[in-house]
Amino acid sequence: MTELSINSIRVIDVKYGTSVDGVGLRTAIYCAGCENHCIGCHNPQSWDENSGKIVPVEELFERIVEADMNVTFTGGDPMLHPEGFTALARMIKENTDKTIWCYTGYRFEDLLLNPLRRALLEWCDVLVDGRYIESERNLSLHFRGSKNQRIIDVQKSLSGNLCLLNVP
Ligand code: SF4
Repeated sequence: MTELSINSIRVIDVKYGTSVDGVGLRTAIYCAGCENHCIGCHNPQSWDENSGKIVPVEELFERIVEADMNVTFTGGDPMLHPEGFTALARMIKENTDKTIWCYTGYRFEDLLLNPLRRALLEWCDVLVDGRYIESERNLSLHFRGSKNQRIIDVQKSLSGNLCLLNVP
């Protein structure tokens, strides 16, 4: 992915008005690339980091503003190539009041150890973390597939103890 700059994201899809990728209706950016390869993954076509097409973050920002909904980063795994998402998240937070949810197969504690991934966390409101584990699948869960996955209040957790959101 040498052609991917810090101001672009390789996107496989943008969904408007999704209600399954976080609270409320949201614009969801589906990126290419995931190295977790969870058994039973809902979106294995997203694993190839060369799939989709490269989109400048300015263009994604314009689409997000036009749609006028809160935002979710998903994939694939946004934390695999976090630079473009960090640029987009910063643009969203500095110019709008939208909330940002981010999905990842990595665990929050591990993201903190990686400066580029931690930089993306700094701009996010909520992180849904951890790999999808088929044996822990639970259809009654909201916004996640298996019960090991956590819905984390990122800003509270960055400033102290891990804070999980109690999503109905
Ligand atoms: S982390 Fe998500 S996108 Fe990646 S393999 Fe697991 S379920 Fe699929």
